[in-house]
Amino acid sequence: MIDCNSMENNQLTALIFDLTKKIKRSKILDAPEDLLVYEYDTSIDRALPDIVILPTTVEEVSHAVTVAAQYDIPVIPRGSGTGFAGGALPVKGGILIVLTAMNKIREIDAENRLAIVEPGVINLHLHEALEPYNLIYAPDPSSQRICTIGGNVGTNSGGPHTLAYGSTVNHILGMEVVLPGGRIVWLGGRQLDTPGMDLRGVFVGSEGTLGIVTAICVSLIPVNETVRTMLAIFDSIDAASSAVSAVIRSGVIPMAMEMMDQETIKVVEPRVRAGYPIDAGAVLLIEVEGLSEVVEHNSAVVVKACNELGAREVRIAESSLERESLWEGRKSAIGALGQTAPAIYLLDGVVPRTKLPEILNKVLLASHKAGFKCANMFHAGDGNLHPTVLFDPLESGATDRVLELGGEIMKLCVDAGGSITGEHGIGLEKRSYMEWVFTESDLAAMEKIRFSFDPVGNFNPCKILPTGHGCAQGHMQITDQQFSIPGVYV
Ligand SMILES: Cc1cc2nc3c(=O)[nH]c(=O)nc-3n(C[C@H](O)[C@H](O)[C@H](O)COP(=O)(O)OP(=O)(O)OC[C@H]3O[C@@H](n4cnc5c(N)ncnc54)[C@H](O)[C@@H]3O)c2cc1C
Repeated sequence: MIDCNSMENNQLTALIFDLTKKIKRSKILDAPEDLLVYEYDTSIDRALPDIVILPTTVEEVSHAVTVAAQYDIPVIPRGSGTGFAGGALPVKGGILIVLTAMNKIREIDAENRLAIVEPGVINLHLHEALEPYNLIYAPDPSSQRICTIGGNVGTNSGGPHTLAYGSTVNHILGMEVVLPGGRIVWLGGRQLDTPGMDLRGVFVGSEGTLGIVTAICVSLIPVNETVRTMLAIFDSIDAASSAVSAVIRSGVIPMAMEMMDQETIKVVEPRVRAGYPIDAGAVLLIEVEGLSEVVEHNSAVVVKACNELGAREVRIAESSLERESLWEGRKSAIGALGQTAPAIYLLDGVVPRTKLPEILNKVLLASHKAGFKCANMFHAGDGNLHPTVLFDPLESGATDRVLELGGEIMKLCVDAGGSITGEHGIGLEKRSYMEWVFTESDLAAMEKIRFSFDPVGNFNPCKILPTGHGCAQGHMQITDQQFSIPGVYV
């Protein structure tokens, strides 16, 4: 159990006074009703900050970090708060630095295929700004309409196109960061490689524990000549998940290969009208890209592999409208599931692709035994599962049982040779599972890296590593009362 650290009133007044020496008062929130907005992300836990700051410049971020160090209080960076692992929760109180107002695209250098953006830029806004240049920033999390590039760097986000392009770390050339203590430095640069240790690589995915990213140099790639989107329709989830390995075995790596099971289709189709057959056992949304001859060849290979595994039909999108609506269904799936139950608990685990049929069956069985419905929509090509448990937190004991089920599912992934996260990070949620995948000396090495950036341990405390001063294991204490605001908790 972790107790939030509430500051004394006089200490808070002094802190605000010191912050306003360089930050406008209107960018500092301390009213309880304002703080309440920031007590949650998309995870199951909640925690209130003592103060929220909405900076617009790196100097303001640096000043806030410097003052926080003087007061010896935690600092927690936050983007849009769409993280599923509780990474942006101020579990020991302190200053929550919300980067969403630093949202400028500072430069698009089309010739050198890079852009410099502020951390609060929404992922989709960057994609839209790049359209005239015929370039893309490859990482495209399903939350791209709302999540920030800073948050993507924090969690090393993936997305449907990770299968072909890799995750965020593969597309970040450099970044400006504010280190604990307030110093502003650049890690990496504008080139693919820089001399010395790759601290840029260390920083991506560090979930706000090493510093705050205040500008990002991203690399861009050209839009492919041809894109073909296919919907492979299967009668069972077993057949669909076997087809995933069959496609890869055939030698073709699609740009994306996303699966939705029957539970998901039943919820998404009536709401989004994406064109998924409501009676399908599962569908695979598969995309191939490249020169038109290559696309022609690769899509024929994909269709053949799916048919051999018993696909009822492989539908090819005939127009960009049809393509968009097939994707709209996938990208709206989590939101749609959130509308059907008082709450959802979405997990993020990885298994070897070949183990998908076995693990999916075990996940469904474990959920059934625990008395919950579980829907599955996920990045199947990467073996990146997202079992989504539907539950009512007001039902006595339900939250505890859901958390227990979550642990059981993560253990299934680990025992299958997989891991405890594919893209959402460890955050608060999975700290206690780190010991399943790392040895004591691995964890000690990670702790040394963390403390070489932040010797005091005040940067996003109680995240990622299972240890930490004053941090107990696992989740916050959640009372049924905390879930009583309808519609707030997805
Ligand atoms: C509907 C839905 C679909 C999703 N689909 C995907 C998906 O396909 N792939 C995927 O990877 N994730 C997905 N997510 C999870 C989430 O959107 C990503 O983890 C995203 O990167 C979080 O961005 P954010 O701006 O909301 O960050 P937040 O949730 O605010 O923060 C996430 C973490 O990053 C840190 N952080 C934030 N900003 C900074 C900064 N400037 N400097 C340093 N650290 C920082 C925070 O401290 C925290 O630890 C999805 C979420 C939802 C709700």
